[in-house]
Amino acid sequence: MEVNNVSMNLSAVSAKQYPDEGYPEIALLGRSNVGKSSLINTLINRKSFARTSSTPGKTQTLNFYNIEDQLYLVDVPGYGFAKVSKKQREEFGVMIEEYLTTRKPLRGVVILVDGRHAPSDDDISMYQYVSYYHLPTLVVATKMDKVKKNQWNKTTSIVNKTMNINQTDQLQLFSAETKSGKDEVWQWIEDHMK
Ligand code: GDP
Repeated sequence: MEVNNVSMNLSAVSAKQYPDEGYPEIALLGRSNVGKSSLINTLINRKSFARTSSTPGKTQTLNFYNIEDQLYLVDVPGYGFAKVSKKQREEFGVMIEEYLTTRKPLRGVVILVDGRHAPSDDDISMYQYVSYYHLPTLVVATKMDKVKKNQWNKTTSIVNKTMNINQTDQLQLFSAETKSGKDEVWQWIEDHMK
């Protein structure tokens, strides 16, 4: 998609705050620091529209980015919060679960994993969770500029195998640095907006 207009329409912590235009939604999920803000900024051709996790005081909300009045990209707070309390973790869990399990316009989920390492237990659990709810999923392995090209096939097979990715889902290698994989991620999103 050619993106010229994007606005961060709203932040929500519960269903009554979700937008109501009915645009299709694609949710992005991943551990803190995996490169989610960088992926969003790459997709929308901005340098720093989505706030990176190093932003002080970044709040843990669902952020809905309105793309061209056609689509919402939904930035779901990173899982694996080392620095928050158990109670806060549980609250995030409830918020994310409510969104993923009840949201009608939600068409698919992008799960980000760090392409430099094997997927973590959190990554595997998150994938199993969305698979259980039959949400079409694109797994994106990030930071691939840090992985030598001759290792890319190995990354593909490790991620496929560790996460046990279903036939109907897809894996895409990606780098925000080189923009490699950007068109393929957009293609998957557009295929799932219908
Ligand atoms: P978030 O917490 O998932 O939103 O992650 P960020 O997008 O803030 O990225 C976390 C860190 O990883 C930052 O220092 C980014 O510059 C870096 N990063 C993100 N994507 C890439 C990438 O594709 N390549 C490289 N080399 N670094 C990246």
